[in-house]
Amino acid sequence: MSRKGPPLGAHVSVAGGVHTAPERGRRIGAEVVQIFSKQNTRWMGKALEEEDARALREESERTGVRVAAIHCAYLINLGSATETIRTRSLYALEDEASRAAMLGVPYLVMHPGSCGDDPAGEGIVRIASAIRTFGKFPKGVTLLLENTAGQGNSIGRTMGQLRELLVAAGSPPDVAVCLDSAHLFESGYDIGSASGWDALLSEMEENGILPLVRMWHLNDSKTPAGSRVDRHEHIGEGRIDVSAFRRILTHGAFSALPMVLETPKDGDDEFEMDRRNLAVLRKLAAPPTKER
Ligand SMILES: [Zn+2]
Ligand SMILES: [Zn+2]
Repeated sequence: MSRKGPPLGAHVSVAGGVHTAPERGRRIGAEVVQIFSKQNTRWMGKALEEEDARALREESERTGVRVAAIHCAYLINLGSATETIRTRSLYALEDEASRAAMLGVPYLVMHPGSCGDDPAGEGIVRIASAIRTFGKFPKGVTLLLENTAGQGNSIGRTMGQLRELLVAAGSPPDVAVCLDSAHLFESGYDIGSASGWDALLSEMEENGILPLVRMWHLNDSKTPAGSRVDRHEHIGEGRIDVSAFRRILTHGAFSALPMVLETPKDGDDEFEMDRRNLAVLRKLAAPPTKER
């Protein structure tokens, strides 16, 4: 039953400990999962023990499900105009990075940050200098800046902004990009149309983003294209034409990248909707049997 195409999965809970993530992944039929390594509304988490890392490794081996990424806590804002928030954000990022290293998780996904009432350019400078201050990430850990819906002056809503940010940060080799389909759509890229997709791809190429994409978040959107309002929806039930997901799943540049759902878990149990959404994605990823 070998299946070609990107490894698929979802963001899963770690209630009961980080080592419970692979089993949750197995229950939805995932190959990869994304987790929060601590409560996502806290600056710092309870310290992880070597035992947590070992248990996670064993569970990954048993289930065949990898933890592809840790999503940083939402509090982190390296673009804040308030210095104390930037400082706390840097410490929190360091905490997240050392957790990723300890758990052997290769990617750390972070929203670049928000510049508040200041012009985007100032936010970009602040985020970039924070990344420079941070310096090198632990061995084996890559920071992925996630594109945003553009809600509340968040930085990273265009490929151009992502590039500006990366260049200002000195284009470090351990910083790359994670793309979220809902955020792309909400920020104005209508990836459900062929022309919108082509426009995105050429912007990605122009800005050097295409070779930097390491991961995808596959989410449909409750809000229309360009809304700049971030509300995730089940695949095929939102405003994004499903052809967008086929384009992402079958594009040669993305064929080995982990792709995870961050859609609502509003089924009969925490697994039902992820299982369903993954089935929809697998159908879209499969080469068409008849046509042509
Ligand atoms: Zn995110
Ligand atoms: Zn996302």
